[in-house]
Amino acid sequence: MMRILSLEHHFVRSVPRELEPGVLYVSMEYATAVHSCCCGCGEQVVTPLSPTDWKMIYDGESVSLTPSIGNWQLPCRSHYIIKRGHVIEAESWSTAQVQAEYRRDKEAKARFYHDKESENGKQEVGPSNPEIVTESSSSSKQKGGFWSSLAKMLFGGSSAK
Ligand SMILES: [Zn+2]
Repeated sequence: MMRILSLEHHFVRSVPRELEPGVLYVSMEYATAVHSCCCGCGEQVVTPLSPTDWKMIYDGESVSLTPSIGNWQLPCRSHYIIKRGHVIEAESWSTAQVQAEYRRDKEAKARFYHDKESENGKQEVGPSNPEIVTESSSSSKQKGGFWSSLAKMLFGGSSAK
């Protein structure tokens, strides 16, 4: 039984610690939607938005999420669909179905990231962290690393790549 039958969307920068039941928090910045489980158990349900996770449709009035939300990792094991702000209960999955979905998800992710890698060539681009960048650039400046790498760039040339 679903206790929450509709979700109001709130576009937020970051998700509040206390989730209000019946609210779908959407953070574009973090490409994530978070809500309190619609069965009413109060557990936090995180749905990352990515090519291999969830997709969000915003029609200007309400939000839909695909695919369905299966909370197999929660004690309630609830399963529902969020469509135009409405919560539609879906049937619970068997363990075999959950495992099959888990495998499909893993394969889809592996394929996706493999394709990405071969598209761009190998590169280690993680999410940028400004704190780490400032720290490392200031420490290299202290050691004179900045000037030596600048000199290398100007005079040494060929070490790049
Ligand atoms: Zn629940």
